[in-house]
Amino acid sequence: MSTSSRREKPAKPANIDAAKRWLRDADLRATPARVAVLRFLAEAAAPASHGEIADELADGGWDRATLYRNLIDLTRAGLVRRSDMGDHVWRFELIGPDAAEHEHPHFVCSECGIIECLPQAEIALRKARGTPRAVRRQKVQVQLRGRCDICL
Ligand SMILES: [Zn+2]
Ligand SMILES: [Zn+2]
Repeated sequence: MSTSSRREKPAKPANIDAAKRWLRDADLRATPARVAVLRFLAEAAAPASHGEIADELADGGWDRATLYRNLIDLTRAGLVRRSDMGDHVWRFELIGPDAAEHEHPHFVCSECGIIECLPQAEIALRKARGTPRAVRRQKVQVQLRGRCDICL
């Protein structure tokens, strides 16, 4: 598998109208909660958990269950990717309508747990005989673990 990014970062909806367009193009109704979740993820520097998103959007008055449902809707529609970074917590990040262009590995600090997106990193996996189909089809997530700059 080689992950290459033609652009360094996934496209972001530039404003509320663009966010609504993304939703409608994905056959989702552009509800205020969905727009808020999309806009939050567009500005997030790293994948965020449901709890973090709910805390950040608490001012909007949405309950946690509504936000969770919307995260799942966005994930099913392919706009958001859901990953388990190894601590059994789902984290969500925006990948946008052209998701395939934005496969990227993540760095997880084994000490403090901080997560970083590595859109510039390229990982090549040799496709030997017996390589699982998921790897050949690039339906896998690459995760690098080590100590972050602060924990070194
Ligand atoms: Zn660390
Ligand atoms: Zn990422």
